[in-house]
Amino acid sequence: MAVPEDNSFKLNVHQINNQSRELLMTQEQTALTVALKQLKMTAEKLNLDPGIHAILKQPKRSITVSVTIKMDDCSIGVFKGCRVQHWDVMGPFKGGIRYHPNVTLDDVTALAMWMTWKCAIMGLPYGGAKGGVQCDTKRLSLGETERLTRRYISLIVDYLGPHRDVPAPDVYTNEQTMAWIMDTYSQLKGYSVPESVTGKPIEIGGSEGRFCATSLGLSYCVREAAEKLKLKLKGSTVAVQGFGNVGYNAANILHKLGCNIVAVSDSTGGIRCSEGLKPFNVLVHKNKTGSVRGYKDCNDITNSELIQTKCDILVPAALENQISIENAANVRAKIVAEGANGPTSPDADQVLHEKGVWLIPDILANAGGVTVSYFEWVQNLTREHWTLDEVNTKLEKKIVKAFEDIYKLAKKEESDMRTAALMLGVGRVAHALRTRGLWP
Ligand code: NAD
Repeated sequence: MAVPEDNSFKLNVHQINNQSRELLMTQEQTALTVALKQLKMTAEKLNLDPGIHAILKQPKRSITVSVTIKMDDCSIGVFKGCRVQHWDVMGPFKGGIRYHPNVTLDDVTALAMWMTWKCAIMGLPYGGAKGGVQCDTKRLSLGETERLTRRYISLIVDYLGPHRDVPAPDVYTNEQTMAWIMDTYSQLKGYSVPESVTGKPIEIGGSEGRFCATSLGLSYCVREAAEKLKLKLKGSTVAVQGFGNVGYNAANILHKLGCNIVAVSDSTGGIRCSEGLKPFNVLVHKNKTGSVRGYKDCNDITNSELIQTKCDILVPAALENQISIENAANVRAKIVAEGANGPTSPDADQVLHEKGVWLIPDILANAGGVTVSYFEWVQNLTREHWTLDEVNTKLEKKIVKAFEDIYKLAKKEESDMRTAALMLGVGRVAHALRTRGLWP
């Protein structure tokens, strides 16, 4: 696009800097190398047909787009975006949209792949997808974020739809983002299509319970694991990394179940307090100051200290690759419940397993989000609205069943919970692929 010399069209320097991180694979360990290694190990365990393995290694479709918008100062912002659709053999694609300055096509591909396995272990009629836009929402105004969202959706709209691909929130996107997506999709179709996206505000077709669903599902998994370990939840100590939708709500729900929240963190660092924190009061402090740090009567800590905090339950609920071979030996928790997607590398998995740490893998621990997204989609398709009680009861039933299925398989295979979860998820998708066959 030609850029006139007129000030009103000058390129925004901050956006150019962001663009310099290419949406391409790097040589370092990425979320995708982790996801592919997990798939390879699972394929070996399942003795998977090499052809099926080759199919599942690649997403069915990856779309990259350039999202161009007018910034508030009338300069032009150019942002790289993508949507990756892994495999839809079980039903329409489903997966979140992430806004983050460092998000890459690799990350989004890995996240889409994990969504495929997650939907399969939960028995949801979906395939996995994920979307990302390289941007820093902390440096965008609300108007700029809205224009970016609408433009991004308009660029991929031909590949979206209630029976094609249904987006949802992820890191730095929220209910408001989903409302803009629903509106953009509906405007382009010419009629209201609430079932085109989930995680919407309740007043425009969102589900009761969606906001806390990921964390509630995680808490059910923690409760089940604690029961097996004969660990009393009341009085158990908990450290949570990430204080957004998943991290804050997990801290809050576990606190209400009687746990003692001894450390939390966000992108600026963390706080620790052995007497325990009240998550809601920390949230008020974070909303006022922009950080959890500096909260009264607490010690400020780094994110790496948080991972090594002595506690019964550790909840990584921020980004990928937080527990690696470098720090896994220093994890001092009895249970690690992965709120985030991909926070633990495969070699760290092994260290934790050998140390006797019970890891509840991401594709089970954070599956409450997509499960209630599925409930929202069903409610939208049937124009029904379920009560909070109905939603939470159905969620508990589904999560507990998936937990038990995976637990039994782990016992049978003498494996950790991640290996069993992957075997269940990949196995179901592979079976569906074989049954449907290839067209033409
Ligand atoms: P969010 O944007 O609401 O919150 C992210 C939090 O992580 C923020 O508090 C942020 O400050 C913190 N953070 C960012 N970088 C960090 C870093 N380097 N160290 C520590 N903290 C950091 O996002 P969310 O929706 O809570 O998602 C968190 C994780 O949970 C992601 O991995 C996401 O894929 C996963 N997840 C989310 C959902 C959902 O329903 N929102 C569902 C399943 C999985």
